[in-house]
This record gives sequence, structure tokens and C-alpha cells, in this order.
Amino acid sequence: MATIDASPASLGEKTQEVVDTFSRYVVPNYKRYPVCLVRGAGSKVWDAEGNEYLDLFPGWGCNLLGHCPEPVVRAVQEQVAKLIHVPNSWYTEPQGEWAKLLSERSFGGQAFFCNSGTEANEAAIKLVRLRTEGKRYKIVTFKGGFHGRTMGAVSATAQPKYHEGLGPMVAGFQYAPHGDLAAVEKLIDEHTGGIMVEPILGEGGVVPAPEGFLQGLRRIADERDLLLVFDEVQCGCGRTGKWFGYQHFGVTPDVITMAKSLCAGIAGGAMLTTVELAKHLRPGMHASTFGGNPIAAAAGIAAIEMIERDHLLDHVDSTAAIFRERMEDLQSRCDVVRDVRVFGMMIGIELSIDGTAVVQSCLEKNLLVNCTQGHVIRLLPAMTLSADEVHDGCDRLSQAILEVASRS
Ligand SMILES: *Cc1c(COP(=O)(O)O)cnc(C)c1O
Repeated sequence: MATIDASPASLGEKTQEVVDTFSRYVVPNYKRYPVCLVRGAGSKVWDAEGNEYLDLFPGWGCNLLGHCPEPVVRAVQEQVAKLIHVPNSWYTEPQGEWAKLLSERSFGGQAFFCNSGTEANEAAIKLVRLRTEGKRYKIVTFKGGFHGRTMGAVSATAQPKYHEGLGPMVAGFQYAPHGDLAAVEKLIDEHTGGIMVEPILGEGGVVPAPEGFLQGLRRIADERDLLLVFDEVQCGCGRTGKWFGYQHFGVTPDVITMAKSLCAGIAGGAMLTTVELAKHLRPGMHASTFGGNPIAAAAGIAAIEMIERDHLLDHVDSTAAIFRERMEDLQSRCDVVRDVRVFGMMIGIELSIDGTAVVQSCLEKNLLVNCTQGHVIRLLPAMTLSADEVHDGCDRLSQAILEVASRS
């Protein structure tokens, strides 16, 4: 695997100091680039040495409105001076308002708030189990999916690389090939209570549900009385040009989970389900101390308001069209580009060569992108990206791909 050059000699003094502190005091569970980011605005970030980068993967998909979006910054600043945190044994104004906005933009249900995607999925898993008092505890999930790192969510994640060395997974998860309805039917028995899927696989390589797949899952769920859970942690909250990924497919789930961009960069997660089902998550059976706290709620509300006031859902469509045109043009000139998949600000460029080398080359061009599954360049740009920034990013990315292709 290509690694990023972190030879100490190449690092600036300030960065070196931070890297040294990390190597002494921070658990080394992440592969980090030898860059220390200190400031961001929109789709630009700056490192400790003052270098500027164009960020097409802001906040690993969390900063959907760019770095430090002004209305969100203001809302958080105002809220933090008023009330930072109170437990969920009290009512707060922002949490109720936030739930209402999310409900109105999805299928009209009720929200449970937590702090991350994995927790949102844990809540969904518990809801599936609690509906039948644990009798129907099995959940069908899909190969290539990603649902998080806590034990329940990682057990739901049908990718062996995330299970290695962890010992027994949580019981009850059954894995079907993505898109294979017949396999789902075969896995279901009297203990199956739900089906969980990402409408568009994110970490799995930016892969949409195949034609008819989500409709088929809806039909199976209805016939067998199962809950259909859509993990919208990556594709939700406006990223694809609609509020939720499922709204592109004309299929309504029973449960959606969201996090990442939900609060425009502040930590926050939510599970939304119908009023009818919500009662199964009864008092005492599930909780999150920080869930739905006033800061996250203020940020979440400000994010929704900004998306609507600035017409960003429409803006996403025009920005995505430029990405599509530029990357399809590259594909026509460069045969290592196998496929271009653009769903609003969720973009996968599948290569026949090592994607990590392309990420490295982009970094050298002060462009931040991601690679997933070893060979898919993944972009999760901000909805606020300008046309000039798209062209600039596509210029640098195309150059990086052509350079790496010519050496491969
Ligand atoms: C990132 C992600 C998660 C996990 O979210 P965390 O906030 O990291 O726990 C779950 N599902 C999907 C689809 C994701 O992309």
C-alpha cells in the first residue's frame, strides 16, 4: 500500500511538534497524513505552515456546508452562551424544533438523537429487536456496506476487514450480496426482524442501489413484516440534492439513520422512525447522554435553514453536472478511469490503478480527496462549492490521475 511521505526532514517545524506530541500521547489507530490543519473556510483549509488546500473531502463527509459556515458558527456561538448541555430528563427548545424540521423533510416520524452514525445505527438495531421483544433479532445487511465501529454496527458491516481480530460478532446479522433480492429472501426466517442498507453505498465505493433493489426490499419487508432501515449517514441530509438518498428511489423506509453532515461539522446523529414504531424504544431501554444537546441541535437547525435559504439543494445539481462532465471527459481520454458515479456531492471515480497513489499526488497538488476500497477516488464536497472551485479541483485531480496512470 502506498504510504504518505512522513519523513521527519520534510515536515515544517510546527507540524513536526504536533506530530511528535501525537506519537507520544495519541493512540495510533489512524493513518494520518503528515499535515496539521489549523483553519478552514468554505472549501479551503490551511495547515500550520500556512499552505492552502482545496478540500473536496471536507470533514470526511461531515462538513457538507464547507468549513465554518457562517450561519452555523453564529448559531453555535449564540447557543453556547445560553445553554451548553442539560440532560434528556428535561425539555429544551432546540431539540424539539430540530426533530420537527427533520420529520417534515423526511417521512413525518419522530427522532431519537445521539452523537454519531454508529450510535444512530445501534438505536435502529435496538428498535428492530425491541419491536418483537427480542424474538426477531436477526437483521439482513449487505456485503460492501458500512454501518460503523461499535460492536453492533460493526457486526452489521459485512466487510471481513472490519471484523479481524475482534472475536465473536454480535449475533443475528446475516449478509447478502448487495443487490441480490433472492439471497435476501433465502436468509429470512422466523427470527428475522429487519433489513438494513445504505441507499447509496458510501465507504463501499459510492455505489447506488441497483434498479428495483430498494423497491424489492420494501416489498419483502412488507410481506414478511420486517423493518426496512436505511442508513443515510453518508448520503443523507441534502448531500445528493434531495434531503435523503431514499427520496431518489421512490421507496419509503421505516427507519432512517443520519449523522456525519447532520450538524454541519458539529458531532450529532439521529435515528428517525414512524410514530407507530417509535414507541418500542420505550423509556429506560435506550438513551444517549449528549444526544440532541442544545449545541448540536442549534447547529442542525442552522444547517437546514442555510440549505433552504441559499437554495443549496438546487445548487448541488448544477455543481454535480460540472463534476460529471469533467470526469466523463477525463474517462474518455484516460483508460484507467473505469467508471464515474456522481450523486450530487457524493462522487466516486473508479480506477483500474491504485487510488492511494492518486490521493498522494493530489496532496502534493494541495488538493484533498479520499480513496475507498483501494481504487475508488471518493469526493464528498461541500454543497457550497463554486463552479470555479469544481474546475480547479477537477484540473488538479485529472492531472494526478494522468500522472499516476503514466507511471503504472
Ligand atoms: C461514517 C458512516 C457510519 C459511521 O458513522 P460514525 O459517525 O463514524 O460512527 C455509518 N454508516 C455510514 C453509511 C457511514 O458512512
